[in-house]
Amino acid sequence: MPERTIAEPYKIKMVEPIRQIPQRARARAMLEAGFNTFLLRSEDVYIDLLTDSGTSAMSDRQWAGLMLGDESYAGSRNFYKLEKAVQDVYGFPFVVPTHQGRGAEHITSQIRIRPGQFVPMNMYFTTTREHVERAGGVFVDVIIDEAHDPTSEHPFKGNVDLAKLNKLVKERGAGSIAYLSLATCVNMAGGQPMSMANLRAVSAWAKRNKLAIIFDATRVVENAYFIQQREKGYADHTVREIIKGMMSYGEGCTVSAKKDNLVNIGGFLATRSEGFFQKAREMVVVFEGLHTYGGLAGRDMEAIALGTYEMCEDEYVASRVRQVHYLGNRLRNGGVPIVLPIGGHGVFLDARRFLPHLEQDVFPAQALCAALYVDSGVRAMERGVVSAGRDQATGKHKYPKLELVRLTIPRRVYTNLHMDVVAESCLALYEGRSRIRGLRMVYEPEHLRFFQARFKKL
Ligand SMILES: *Cc1c(COP(=O)(O)O)cnc(C)c1O
Repeated sequence: MPERTIAEPYKIKMVEPIRQIPQRARARAMLEAGFNTFLLRSEDVYIDLLTDSGTSAMSDRQWAGLMLGDESYAGSRNFYKLEKAVQDVYGFPFVVPTHQGRGAEHITSQIRIRPGQFVPMNMYFTTTREHVERAGGVFVDVIIDEAHDPTSEHPFKGNVDLAKLNKLVKERGAGSIAYLSLATCVNMAGGQPMSMANLRAVSAWAKRNKLAIIFDATRVVENAYFIQQREKGYADHTVREIIKGMMSYGEGCTVSAKKDNLVNIGGFLATRSEGFFQKAREMVVVFEGLHTYGGLAGRDMEAIALGTYEMCEDEYVASRVRQVHYLGNRLRNGGVPIVLPIGGHGVFLDARRFLPHLEQDVFPAQALCAALYVDSGVRAMERGVVSAGRDQATGKHKYPKLELVRLTIPRRVYTNLHMDVVAESCLALYEGRSRIRGLRMVYEPEHLRFFQARFKKL
C-alpha cells in the first residue's frame, strides 16, 4: 500500500493575495534588477522561495498572543512565558532573548572564544562563522566528506567526522579548542541532519577532552523529524522528545526563532551553565537590550513562546517536511538534477548538471535563478560562485564545488498547488536548458556581493 497522505493540521483563516505579473513585465523587472533576485520588488514576485527565514505564517493563537504583549521595560510576563517554553521544549534552564539568531551568536562567540582558539563546526553558517572569526576564533570544518558531495545519499550528511576532531586534538591539543559548534540540519549542506548516534559519539568524545558542545539549534525540529523517520529506535518517539534528547548533549544553544519557531523576528540563547548565563546576561544589555527583552517587543516574545510549542507538533512537522519532499520528488522524477537526499527546508537545484554548457565563470546558478523568475515569477536564491565571493589573497573568484539554486519553502505559507507551479516551471526550463545563457558581472560590491551584484546577459 502506498504511504497515506498526512495533511496540514490546520485550515486557512486569512489569505494574502499574490499575483503573477505578465511574462513581459517579469522580463523587464529582471533586467531592472540586474539579474539578481535580491533586487526584485516582492510585489513583482509570484511565489517567493528566496528564504524560509522570518517568512512563516503565524497561527491564530500567535496573532491573538500579540495582543497580550506586556511592553514593560523590565520583567515582562511574555519573557517568563518564553523562558518556560524554552525550558519545556529544549530543556535548558537559563534563557537570554536576542533580536535574532546572530545576536545570540555574537554574545556566545565573544564570551567563549579566546583569540587564536579553534572552533570545530559541521560545515558552517555565514553569520555563525563571521561571529566566531570576529572573536578571533578559527573555523575548522569537521563534517563528514559526504556532505560536500551533492550525489551522495547518506541519510545523515550533517554528521561529524570524529577522525577530523582527533586529528585536530593530536596536532594542536584540546586546549586549543574553544568549544564544538554543532548545527542541527546543516543549512549550507542542503538542510541535512545529524544522527542521534553521531551526537552521542561526539558528546562522549567532547567529555573525554573536557570540551563543551554549543548547538546552533535553529533547525532542530527538522533534524528531530529525520531522526524519527530514519534512525533505528526512534520511530515511536515524538519530535518533542527527540529535540529534548538531542539538546541534552549540549551545554547550550543559540537559536534564530525566524526559522523553526514560526515567527517573523526573534532569537535566543539558552544554557545549563550558570556561569555562561551570567556573562551572557551582562553582555546582552550592551548589545541587544535588558536581559528580559533582548531587543524584542513583549508581543514578539509571546509569539515565539507559542510558536516554540507549535513547531514540535508531529503532524505539523511531518506535513512541513513532506511538502519540501513533494516538490523535490516531482523534480527528481522529472529528471531535474537536485541535491540528494532532499533536505528539511528546501530543494537545491544542481546548476552544474542543469546547465552543463555554462562554465562557472558565467554564473550558471545566478542565470538559472533569473530564468526561473522570468518563466514563472518564482523567486529563488543563488548558492554558488557569486555567493562564495573572491579569495582575499589572489583576488580571483572562489570556485565552490557546489553551484546551486536554493528553493526554500516558507512554513505554513504555500499549498502543494504552488509547489506544482514551481515544479512545472523548473521542468520546462530543464527541457529548454540549452537556450539559457550565462551572465557577466557589471557591478560587484566588496562585501557579501551576492546581495547587490548586478549582471548582464551574455
Ligand atoms: C538563519 C540562521 C542563522 C542566523 O539567524 P538570524 O536570525 O538570521 O540572525 C544561524 N544559523 C542558521 C542555521 C540559520 O539558518
